[in-house]
Amino acid sequence: MSVKVPRGTQDILPGQSEKWQYIESIAKDVCRRYHYKEIRTPIFEHTELFTRSVGDTTDIVQKEMYTFEDRGERSLTLRPEGTAAVVRSFVENKMFGIPDQPTKLFYTGPMFRYERPQSGRYRQFVQFGVEAIGSEDPAIDAEVIALIMDIYKSAGLKKLKLVINSLGDAESRNAHREALIAHFEPRIDEFCTDCQTRLAKNPLRILDCKKDRDHELMATAPSILDYLNDESKAYFAKVTSYLDAIGIAYTIDPKLVRGLDYYNHTAFEVMSEAEGFGAITTLCGGGRYNGLVQDLGGPESPGIGFAFSIERFIAAMEAERTEWPVDSGLDCFIVAIGMEAKDHSVALVHELRTAGLSADRDYQDRKMKAQLKASDRQKARFTAILGEDELAEKRITVKDMAEGSQDNVLLSELTDYLKTKMEAN
Ligand code: AMP
Repeated sequence: MSVKVPRGTQDILPGQSEKWQYIESIAKDVCRRYHYKEIRTPIFEHTELFTRSVGDTTDIVQKEMYTFEDRGERSLTLRPEGTAAVVRSFVENKMFGIPDQPTKLFYTGPMFRYERPQSGRYRQFVQFGVEAIGSEDPAIDAEVIALIMDIYKSAGLKKLKLVINSLGDAESRNAHREALIAHFEPRIDEFCTDCQTRLAKNPLRILDCKKDRDHELMATAPSILDYLNDESKAYFAKVTSYLDAIGIAYTIDPKLVRGLDYYNHTAFEVMSEAEGFGAITTLCGGGRYNGLVQDLGGPESPGIGFAFSIERFIAAMEAERTEWPVDSGLDCFIVAIGMEAKDHSVALVHELRTAGLSADRDYQDRKMKAQLKASDRQKARFTAILGEDELAEKRITVKDMAEGSQDNVLLSELTDYLKTKMEAN
């Protein structure tokens, strides 16, 4: 029996991997414009990092982590998300001491969650995220939201909905928490066992429950927006006024609470509204986490960030039928006929590659016709044909597949000839 990929994971093959590179390059370029620099952290971390930051009442920590003991009997976990590690690194490397704050970072890489796989939900998925740590200016909230919308727009996505909410500061959250307990407690036995545990530990998370979503008490639950104190209200008003100023449309949804424990103030999600996108429409989630740096042993450094997965980004591109860049093909394919010509083509293809052209040759000892077909399949712009007579004369025949023209060139001039022709159009 052959071995298959583990459930919830996938291979990204040529033909698809170009789409991944395309999205990553767009996201990186937008980060460059907004002045965010890349950070790379390990794929596994001490388990404690996630229980302390993501929160031990969350689904991620309770049910979804890939946790294992290494040979030194340490409990390690494959990272389920990116923020905790970035903040750990921010503290560990004392990035708060850098004169220019906030520290603006982006990351990309695989994340791991033991979830039930379905369309748009994998056990290994690649997130791209940003974190801006060290500022509580509402303008940075607007900047981070503008950045993600810019990434989507740059890729050509249009059918998007930005939803935002405020979870308020600690005082507002506490007032809301009391109201939630009063609301759910009398009928908590009608809810799932997870929600029953959440009631005491973190009642806000009941609003995020997938099982009890349709319970009548959900619709009438107290809204966080009614419990925001004056500072939190003023903060949220500033964020929305900045979004208005830069022309970013949004919907306020008081039910948006986000799954992780560390959020406060601004929370946001971007959904796809493309027809046929599927049941899970969230493309990106983010929010502010003012206490997290302190929770992980650093000085007070308020932060905000977001993450999206490339899997769902690609699904949204496909659902909207957005155009992908066309595969430009090879610059030159060398067709060699006869042993001597084949031998010579080894150095020739190397010369072209060294000069910066993309070039290839036949390695299957195929006849001329099959080599020409291969050149066609590779979408080569030029096919260079080297026969024995030509080799004797130190020349080569070059077909320009775009123009349909043909030239006989000195072998020593092939690179310059191709470069000149390519620069001309
Ligand atoms: P979260 O860290 O749960 O807020 O997720 C942020 C974003 O990551 C989501 O909006 C999705 O785009 C993506 N995401 C989360 N979980 C998965 C998954 N299991 N498979 C694919 N993408 C995911």
